[in-house]
Amino acid sequence: MTRAVRIEQHGGPEQLKIADVQVGEPGPGQIRIRHKAVGLNFIDVYHRTGLYKMEMPAGIGMEASGIVEAVGEGVTHLKAGDRAAYAGNPPGSYCEVRVMPAAQVCKLPDDIDFETGAAMMLKGMTAQYLLRRTLPQGGLQPGDHVLFHAAAGGVGLIACQWAKALGLQLIGTAGSDEKCKLAKENGAAHVINYSKEDFKERVMEITGGKGVKVVYDSVGKDTWDKSLDCLRPFGLMASFGNASGPVPPFAPNILGVKGSLYVTRQTLFTHIATRESCQQMADELFDVVASGKVKIRIDQRYPLDQVQQAHRDLEARKTTGCTILTL
Ligand code: NDP
Repeated sequence: MTRAVRIEQHGGPEQLKIADVQVGEPGPGQIRIRHKAVGLNFIDVYHRTGLYKMEMPAGIGMEASGIVEAVGEGVTHLKAGDRAAYAGNPPGSYCEVRVMPAAQVCKLPDDIDFETGAAMMLKGMTAQYLLRRTLPQGGLQPGDHVLFHAAAGGVGLIACQWAKALGLQLIGTAGSDEKCKLAKENGAAHVINYSKEDFKERVMEITGGKGVKVVYDSVGKDTWDKSLDCLRPFGLMASFGNASGPVPPFAPNILGVKGSLYVTRQTLFTHIATRESCQQMADELFDVVASGKVKIRIDQRYPLDQVQQAHRDLEARKTTGCTILTL
């Protein structure tokens, strides 16, 4: 048996309930992992509210680290006793022990502690694919301007540091002066408090009227229109989330009017769908963390039984950097 957070129906944080759940043996291609720490992500909020629908009742959470207890038939990259971490489906990481597909579970290097492992896999591989795989025409060159919304959040602070390491001029937006300061300290070349400044005007000032090559937009509804106006001709809108609500439908013609723009909407889970690709992305993340180019900030820790409060704080924009659930 394990303590696990379950939801019976979509709704508010009160739907997150701790239950005792049976844990079985791993089948072919699966492992059983005993968690040391669990990562909290905004996607967990979408799963809970039903913005991203799940069959009920359901587990929740997509990121954790721990020790492999048993491996099923055909699993060759892990063995019992290995330290491991993952970002992966199906949701259900808010628990002490679970069985899950092995393909998205990676060995955790010895020099990365469990809390860091739990905090960084989903957010760090997302920053990886956004900055390294989701590229505008001609790629990104050192000195290029990019705009990154919610730059003081979990994905945001990792992206600020990684972008600096790549030589990019990242313009980060955040909802308060304190968050802007944090983004700047973590490598953003410029910061904009978008709760009081017009971010399009500021982006144009910073870029001498040219606009940015890429906008990374996880805020969605509230930032979509103005974000398109921040792009230079042939620029790329990389939409990857909807913290303020889903992006409303739009007519493709608008992309032509605003300068022959590109739009992409990607998800980490396509990038890590194969074992090879997942490992390659994780290795790149492990390298930037081990080298100190990217430091994983864990700014909030909640015991598992305070999971409802953790969700409240994340949704109320009270958190910065990464958040973990402790066991
Ligand atoms: P964050 O720590 O970044 O938290 C979300 C942040 O969004 C808030 O702190 C807040 O920052 C900002 N925000 C703006 N408007 C709102 C609003 N109305 N309600 C709540 N928050 C708002 O979360 P994560 O690091 O976990 O994830 C960042 C984003 O990236 C999320 O949208 C997530 O869904 C997305 N994501 C997408 C992935 C993909 O592959 N497509 C994978 C991983 C994450 P501020 O106060 O500064 O505005």
